[in-house]
Amino acid sequence: MTRKIETSRVIVVTGGTRGIGASISKMMHKFGYKVAATYMGNDEAAKEFKEKTGIEAVFKFDVGDFAACEKGIAKIEAKLGPIDILVNNAGITRDSFLHKMTPEKWNDVIRTNLNSVFNMSRLTVEGMRSRGFGRIISISSINGLSGAMGQTNYAAAKSGIIGFSKSLALEVAGKGVTVNVIAPGYIETDMVRAIAPEILEKIVSKIPVKKLGTTRAIARLVAFLVDDDNQFTTGATFNVNGGQYLA
Ligand code: NDP
Repeated sequence: MTRKIETSRVIVVTGGTRGIGASISKMMHKFGYKVAATYMGNDEAAKEFKEKTGIEAVFKFDVGDFAACEKGIAKIEAKLGPIDILVNNAGITRDSFLHKMTPEKWNDVIRTNLNSVFNMSRLTVEGMRSRGFGRIISISSINGLSGAMGQTNYAAAKSGIIGFSKSLALEVAGKGVTVNVIAPGYIETDMVRAIAPEILEKIVSKIPVKKLGTTRAIARLVAFLVDDDNQFTTGATFNVNGGQYLA
């Protein structure tokens, strides 16, 4: 069941046109928030998302590029107004054992998954501070907590998000801005569907609930965290992983 919340809050979801991000965008739109969804290059998915959801504010820019974020945010604010809520969701994997990892794979993952969190948070937090309200939520990963073979780059970025968020939470605690992290386990999305079936089967067998998570489970938690009433939850990391890693 969904409820419409009396709100005029503006929310930006990076990587908001596919997978977990699309689910967050859709749920927040249903709840009455003004949603802007961003993406990188998959125009077809973005077009389909726009048509199916009726969310008009869809913006294409690279969250790993500070100048592109500056321009993108200016466009979003011109269309919807000042940004109250930021969901840093965009992310990629470029897996490889470290002894074979190229600098490109390392840099791509760090810039897209971690520099992006700096870029987008840096460019929105001043407005949030000055208006006395803000919510920043970043999507980490179970593998940022547990580590994972072949993911030194991804785990470094995802665990970096946690230290970043705890520090920022302290900086803005007196300004009405909360900063939290969600660390999903394996969720049914394109990113997970790309894993070879025999490996995925093994992964699922190790999840205590014996299934993949849904994107809606993550969206629900976002809805909880961004609520105006939720002023007391900050600097926290929420594990949503079917019991696979108990931190
Ligand atoms: P998807 O691959 O389904 O979607 C990724 C989204 O991010 C797309 O919209 C993509 O845009 C966008 N994106 C990628 N690179 C950039 C960039 N440089 N600039 C702007 N947008 C970009 O991912 P998921 O939904 O699976 O994952 C979402 C987040 O959750 C990621 O941070 C991921 O690491 C994390 N996560 C996912 C898990 C899972 O099981 N799926 C588990 C744990 C964490 P485009 O459509 O144009 O390609």
